[in-house]
Amino acid sequence: MKKDVIIIGAGASGLMCAIEAGGRGRSVLVIDHTERIGKKVLISGGGRCNFTNRDIRPENYISRNPHFCKSAFSRFTPDNFIAMLERHGIKYYEKEAGQLFCAEGSGEIIEMLQEECSKAAVEICLSCRIEDVKRDSLFSLSTNLGTFQSESLVVATGGLSYPKVGATEIGYRIAREFGLKVNSLKPALVPFTLNPQDLKIVMELSGVSINASVSCKGKEFRGDILFTHRGLSGPAVLQISSYWNAGEEIVINLLPGMDAYEFFLTRRQGRMEMRNLLSEFLPKRLAHIWCDLYIKSKPANQYSDKELGVIARQIHNWTIIPAGTEGYNTAEVTLGGVDTNELSSKTMEAKKVPGLYFTGEVVDVTGQLGGYNLHWAWASGFVAGHYV
Ligand SMILES: Cc1cc2nc3c(=O)[nH]c(=O)nc-3n(C[C@H](O)[C@H](O)[C@H](O)COP(=O)(O)OP(=O)(O)OC[C@H]3O[C@@H](n4cnc5c(N)ncnc54)[C@H](O)[C@@H]3O)c2cc1C
Repeated sequence: MKKDVIIIGAGASGLMCAIEAGGRGRSVLVIDHTERIGKKVLISGGGRCNFTNRDIRPENYISRNPHFCKSAFSRFTPDNFIAMLERHGIKYYEKEAGQLFCAEGSGEIIEMLQEECSKAAVEICLSCRIEDVKRDSLFSLSTNLGTFQSESLVVATGGLSYPKVGATEIGYRIAREFGLKVNSLKPALVPFTLNPQDLKIVMELSGVSINASVSCKGKEFRGDILFTHRGLSGPAVLQISSYWNAGEEIVINLLPGMDAYEFFLTRRQGRMEMRNLLSEFLPKRLAHIWCDLYIKSKPANQYSDKELGVIARQIHNWTIIPAGTEGYNTAEVTLGGVDTNELSSKTMEAKKVPGLYFTGEVVDVTGQLGGYNLHWAWASGFVAGHYV
């Protein structure tokens, strides 16, 4: 079978690219090895799909070239995606800080993408396993369902995270086979695991969630932190994990936005025990365990100013060196990927392989938590769809 365009990956980016290319009258075939489209989109945002963010900026992305994403974002904005949702009557709501979610669940987005693909006469071939990709005058894909040829080939195969919904390394492999550089990969937006000593403490707090700030090498995120039986999770922890490297420390500020020392001074004449004082701001279990671990809890009026200063500093700077992360099984994204220097930021085409395009998470552009990764997938797929 011969098509103008073959897209590998029926995920967020591949489907958006297919819709745009099909809408231009190009004959498009989308290939996926799983049995249904958009599996990761379906589970995204806890099943409600945080599909974009009202405030998309390059600063919300990690890439060796922080400017690379600008071109796609200038041509495909959150309003463009919202307009598509509204055309399909899909209701959405803003959760926090610009994060937009589907009111009725992510299944509606999959239906929308499916309908748009049908309208653009896009053919979708599922349960199709690729055995080989070659390029002569055309791209040629050998698969378990036969050989497919095309003028343009789009690799929209996503990252390595969540292999259980179909993630594979094929996109990176194709890039390398065509001589493109792939920057080192690692799981990001991922919970931390802890060494046995820290884990013993954290396990006792399993299920406790607090609003705190977490920092690493000068990068700081405020949000919920969740203590789990494996370590640390929650939005603020996931965010900082993208900036963390093995062996580095993270610093948790248990009382962000207040000065613990000033607070202690206002209560220093009283007889309330420190663990109970802290329980006024922290979950009781956390306040008690933390005091047992790090300080001798006694009535407030028995501390010297110096001791109170030390306790305040500890409260604001709880330092932990994570043992590692939970890895690709639970990471939301893969950091790194096809080096942006290899691609045109305007078209997503490989500079040294005309007709070969890379879009979405497989590219070295990784968003923070909050709808940024899906927006990159839509935007990069959309712009490629104009040129394939
Ligand atoms: C649990 C979870 C929750 C998330 N929640 C959000 C969220 O709320 N908001 C947000 O912005 N981001 C979220 N993300 C990240 C976001 O889903 C991805 O960044 C985004 O889907 C990437 O789009 P993509 O098109 O590049 O890849 P994908 O959507 O992953 O699509 C890649 C496609 O390629 C196919 N494929 C892979 N290998 C092969 C192969 N060998 N042969 C054929 N096909 C192949 C896959 O089956 C898949 O269909 C979440 C991720 C996870 C894991």
